[in-house]
Amino acid sequence: MSEPILGIDLGTTNSEVAVVRDGQPHVFAEDGDPILPSFVGLSEDGRLLVGKAARNQWVLAPERTIKSIKRKMGQDVKIRLGDQEFRPQEISAMILRALRDRASAQLGVPVRKAVITVPAYFNDAQRQATREAGELADLEVVRILNEPTAASLTYDPSQRELQRVLVYDLGGGTFDVSIVQSQEGVIEVLASHGDTALGGDDFDDLLLKHVVDKFKTEHDVDLSGNLASRARVLRAVEAAKRQLSYHPFARIEEEFIAEKNGQALHLNVEISREEYEAMIRPMLDRTMDCVQRALDDSRVVGSAINKVVLVGGSTRTPLISRLLEERLGQPTHQEVNPDLCVAMGAGIQAAMMGGASVGPVLVDITPHSMGIKCLDLLQGFDFPFRFAPILKRNTPLPASQSEIFHTVHDNQDAVEIDVYQGEREDVRQNYQVGKFTISGLSKVAAGNPLVVQLDLTLDGILKVSARERATGLQKQITIENALAKFEREERDVARQRLDRLWNNVERPEADYPADEWSDDAPPSREAPELVAGPREGQRETVQARALLEKAERLVGNLNAEDKEEVDRLMEQLRTALTDRKWNDVTSACNELSDILFYLEEV
Ligand code: AMP
Repeated sequence: MSEPILGIDLGTTNSEVAVVRDGQPHVFAEDGDPILPSFVGLSEDGRLLVGKAARNQWVLAPERTIKSIKRKMGQDVKIRLGDQEFRPQEISAMILRALRDRASAQLGVPVRKAVITVPAYFNDAQRQATREAGELADLEVVRILNEPTAASLTYDPSQRELQRVLVYDLGGGTFDVSIVQSQEGVIEVLASHGDTALGGDDFDDLLLKHVVDKFKTEHDVDLSGNLASRARVLRAVEAAKRQLSYHPFARIEEEFIAEKNGQALHLNVEISREEYEAMIRPMLDRTMDCVQRALDDSRVVGSAINKVVLVGGSTRTPLISRLLEERLGQPTHQEVNPDLCVAMGAGIQAAMMGGASVGPVLVDITPHSMGIKCLDLLQGFDFPFRFAPILKRNTPLPASQSEIFHTVHDNQDAVEIDVYQGEREDVRQNYQVGKFTISGLSKVAAGNPLVVQLDLTLDGILKVSARERATGLQKQITIENALAKFEREERDVARQRLDRLWNNVERPEADYPADEWSDDAPPSREAPELVAGPREGQRETVQARALLEKAERLVGNLNAEDKEEVDRLMEQLRTALTDRKWNDVTSACNELSDILFYLEEV
């Protein structure tokens, strides 16, 4: 074996080290964790701590702990640690040594060479300081590599054809976006923009403030005043934030968080993804401005981007993909773990410098989107075949995601959960993988929320569950071999169906000719219906639909004057729905609801 060259991502909050083995990058883990927190500290008895142990003492002993040293690289400053002072490159060298030792121990040979990544915006002094840090760690730095370049290498190591990749990197404390161009092995960062003080930590702070304010209103106790309580809440909100990337709600619970008049107080707050997204939206809008500036500076239009790659833990926030997809008109890629992507890319670069050929990183992903059938209103008319994807195509496995849906009718006591795979908006053009009915739902008004969750394992076992939020009533099914099933039957069943549909393209506003479309029994209008999709305006849509149904029932029995007024309001409501103007939908609903209430009374 030729001498190994390490690929190192020396990050602001976390660092990782990788090499290529059998053509694939491999990140070295310790105790099962591939991430080494970029923290250095001294223990109470003066021992040097690097990584998790140093991070753990940060809250309690900040005077003995150093974090985010990367921010100081290239500056002529000294940092005190215990009774000594160090230059930034010396502190970074301690992190590099820890990574080198981790790799050497697992490779069973000493390592002397490394590729180290830096942000594209690092200047010469910062790059030079990074080199020095490597040398202080007894590593020959064979290349300083730009982080976005490393990320793009994981998706296409050959870089032969002209490729323009937009790399959006949002970590814990920093954000940057770069346009990377490659052709025939020459890779160039065309432009890079960012904000070195924006990241997931800021999202945590927003959530923390929300929770602390709520607690203050409820109990008149300020949790931020107590260091230990604050640290506990911060840890809890960070965990809730991660949950919200996969589920529509998260609960923040901490027992005995405070005391008042001798009584213990507990923290118990629920937050929805919608509320959380509204909180962070202004910050994400700032990142989108940077995306535009990077495109402008590189003179590349959005449509000329071949791939949008997500890097950094915070990019698991689904709103980020949504905003980027809206702006750039193409799906984002995060199949390669966004925490490890840069280290893997550095490992790939290192292997190529050592003469090895490397293929794109292999990852297990869902090859097709998976979701359920639901009712949608298109241009004011019911469309009961809307596909609502829950696990999106290309999601790394194992995966778990849930979304919220609502019942359509008042007192609806059952809902059919009809599970499909595919990419089409009309479920009849996708492949059905299973279905079940959840019944015994509470007798309440339309809009009763249900959480539908999909869990897919690496072996292709799909678990689908539906839970009534108000009561916790739950039903689930397990579908073995969900992935293989689709592959096998795709050609015969789904494609035959597609061929038929091809010659008979549907107009959603037409009444649906059920039997023509499917071999499966078509859902009758009386069958238990789910629910509008997990999208913007769904609550308004459900309300509008119920009102339109009621108005249609009443309108035949009205005198000419009242009929004219109801018709006018129905028309107004349908127009607002068609235009997806949710405020107008709400005001039309209010007007219609008032007049219907009055007409029912008389
Ligand atoms: P990095 O600096 O790239 O290691 O990213 C760390 C940041 O990613 C922290 O702010 C984490 O809270 C955040 N993060 C990690 N996992 C998730 C997730 N599933 N959803 C949202 N943020 C996450």
